Amino acid sequence: MTQQFDVIIIGAGAAGLMCAATAGYRGRSVLVIDNAKKAGRKILISGGGRCNFTNQSVSPDNFLCGNPHFVKSALARYPSSNFIELVERHGIEYHERDHGQLFCNDSAKDIVDMLLTECDWAGVTISLRSEIKYVKQLDEQQFEVHAGGQCYQANSLVIATGGLSMPKLGATPFGYKLAEQFGLKVLPTRAGLVPFTWHSDQKEHFEALSGIAVPSCITAANGKQFSEALLFTHRGLSGPAILQISNYWQPGEAVSINLLPKQDAASLIEQVLSQHPKQSLKNTLSQWLPKRLVEALFDENTLAKALNQLGHGERDSIAAKLNNWQITMNGTEGYRTAEVTLGGVDTNELSSKTMQANNVKGLYFIGEVMDVTGWLGGFNFQWAWASGVACGLDC
Ligand code: FAD
Repeated sequence: MTQQFDVIIIGAGAAGLMCAATAGYRGRSVLVIDNAKKAGRKILISGGGRCNFTNQSVSPDNFLCGNPHFVKSALARYPSSNFIELVERHGIEYHERDHGQLFCNDSAKDIVDMLLTECDWAGVTISLRSEIKYVKQLDEQQFEVHAGGQCYQANSLVIATGGLSMPKLGATPFGYKLAEQFGLKVLPTRAGLVPFTWHSDQKEHFEALSGIAVPSCITAANGKQFSEALLFTHRGLSGPAILQISNYWQPGEAVSINLLPKQDAASLIEQVLSQHPKQSLKNTLSQWLPKRLVEALFDENTLAKALNQLGHGERDSIAAKLNNWQITMNGTEGYRTAEVTLGGVDTNELSSKTMQANNVKGLYFIGEVMDVTGWLGGFNFQWAWASGVACGLDC
């Protein structure tokens, strides 16, 4: 028997649940379908289990999108203060970390429970462990979805199936395929907010630094810059600085790493040279950086020299390496560990106010499945909430 709803949402993640509650409160009958056994699985593991659910200061500049103006309307309509207010209404305690990032004090589960409570209050039906067999459009205002052995029909169909990152958590290309089924353009996808990997010779040289973290300022070839911690790992480079820059990095490009972001290395070296001319380069640099890192960056003979044995040119190139270490990485760890997927459903195909497809009435795309990617810092969830609400008010 076919069951009729006003709205069917595919994907019980951040965007899908937010949209469901919003549409439900408008009196729409809403069904959310997900193939996973739990709703909001990415939320549960996000932010190291504490969910960086939004950011105090969100602007369109914090997002990558083929059409940079696209995010403005939804973000303005549902700013982070609205989500903070929702969190507070549910009595969830939270705290602020660097750069305005807001995290739960206790657990990311609080956010999932809050969304499920909202869905419950709004009368939303959620069907988990439901594999989609097919989706088709019956006529201009009617979609049919066959899932979990059931047949459902609705006037509005919302795709909230997320990106490709973390396939272990059930990520699938379903949303992209569905977009193509309905003739919407999908922009090429790649892993974002993802660690870099070493080339094999670099791995031999730098692997022993695994675990070392230093403040840094990293610049991509296109000039984009982030001042955050840099972490050396067995496989390559990670930490917030690398995750941020990975969104702006293209294969084969070098990145510039400033290992002394608050200091001019050349002046520092000149200063020590004038005060302690016989001090070795190694002892000098080890005041500012971990010794193991210093040993990996410069050869033994150079490090053994006293500062007054180094010529001008040598001192300049040492300073340049400290303030502008150019490194070309092998690649990224890919979707396996990426937090997000860049690219996706082309936003030029969608209304920025409602997320509805321009050419398919009643079909909507929200959250990460579309070509909108946020920086690290709670911006990806803020996009899920904002796009979910924009759609929920219309679908
Ligand atoms: P998702 O939350 O991924 O939800 C998609 C849903 O669709 C899932 O429930 C999935 O099971 C379902 N689905 C997929 N395919 C199908 C199918 N074929 N049939 C039925 N259902 C399907 N962002 C932040 O802002 N702050 C953070 O702290 C943060 N931490 C993160 C940590 C990790 C490890 C990862 C991987 C991501 C993190 N992110 C974070 C990014 C954030 O989780 C995503 O951007 C966000 O979840 C996207 O929401 P969404 O609803 O679009 O997709």
